[in-house]
Amino acid sequence: MQTIDEALDKLQTSKFRSSFHLKEKDKAYIRDKGMDTIRQHATDFITTRLAPEVIPNDGKQTPMKGHPVFIAQHATACCCRGCLYKWYKVKPDKALTEVQINKIVNLIMAWIDREINA
Ligand SMILES: [Zn+2]
Repeated sequence: MQTIDEALDKLQTSKFRSSFHLKEKDKAYIRDKGMDTIRQHATDFITTRLAPEVIPNDGKQTPMKGHPVFIAQHATACCCRGCLYKWYKVKPDKALTEVQINKIVNLIMAWIDREINA
C-alpha cells in the first residue's frame, strides 16, 4: 500500500492530474474558513457524492470549480468511482467504508496542504 506522499508523487506524473491547481481565490477561501472546516467539507462531499454504492451520475458528480475540494478531487483522481478504481483499485458498485473515506479525505487535504505551501 502506498503512502500519501507516494500517491501525490505518482499523481504528479499524470499531465492531466498535475494540471489542476488552486486559484488565489480558492486559497483565500481556505485561509478564511480554516483547514478544519475544509476537511469537514471534504468529508461531506466524499460521503455524499463518492461513497454510495449507486451513483447515477458517476463521472459527472464533481464540478471543475466552485470549491477547492472539487479541484483537489480532480487533482488526486478522487473525482468519481471510475477514477478511484483506475488509480487505487477501489471497486465500484460497493459503498466506501469509513476507513476508505478517511484515506481519501487525508489525500485530498495533503494535496491542498502542498498547494497552499507551494
Ligand atoms: Zn473521475
